[in-house]
Amino acid sequence: MGKRGVTVLLTVLLAVCLLGMEQVKDRKETVEAGMEVSEEEKLVALTFDDGPHAVYTEKLLEGLRERGVKATFFLIGKSIEGKEEIVKQMAEDGHLIGSHTFDHVQLTALSVEEACREISMTNEAIREVTGQEPEYIRPPFGSWNTRLECAVDMKEVGWTVDPEDWKVKDTDTVVERVLEKTEDGSIILLHDVYDTSVEAAFQIIDALQAEGYRFVTVDGVMLD
Ligand SMILES: [Zn+2]
Repeated sequence: MGKRGVTVLLTVLLAVCLLGMEQVKDRKETVEAGMEVSEEEKLVALTFDDGPHAVYTEKLLEGLRERGVKATFFLIGKSIEGKEEIVKQMAEDGHLIGSHTFDHVQLTALSVEEACREISMTNEAIREVTGQEPEYIRPPFGSWNTRLECAVDMKEVGWTVDPEDWKVKDTDTVVERVLEKTEDGSIILLHDVYDTSVEAAFQIIDALQAEGYRFVTVDGVMLD
């Protein structure tokens, strides 16, 4: 073999060697990245009460779609009329739809008959639009009567993070309060009937996604 032949051979050997090292490095990085995701993935559920709202719910749905986020909506039965398209879109986008009673009433202050009417009328209104019977209910004011036979199959949903967005109506304050309290498994309570809350929801999502949180519907964080 001539001098030129040796040089070519050495160059080829060096190239093969470097390529091999690069592949090993790539594989190692992939494995490490994979472990990081599964070990550190934190789940959080965004829930919205008191909708649907003709303007803000639609805006919220758009922003959730852009961010690839699924949320949970507890609808007021009487607000559905005239906003059927929004509710239909909500279901099509894969969000979970639950009940927040027909007239936003305190169920425990009603007779069993009246309370059941509030629940069944809302379930009917939701089913008419989505074709699905709601399984989850968030009773207004958190007051729930477990003896309501008309709702034995429904699961009551509470919350763990409440920034009182309906009271402050200030985006920065809502975002700050939520980010301060949120941890793995949190259920965040917001209301999609205020522009400030919808804007806060977008900022909350962007911040928590950057921290590695994954947004799920409420059934994904409930222990029951
Ligand atoms: Zn409410």
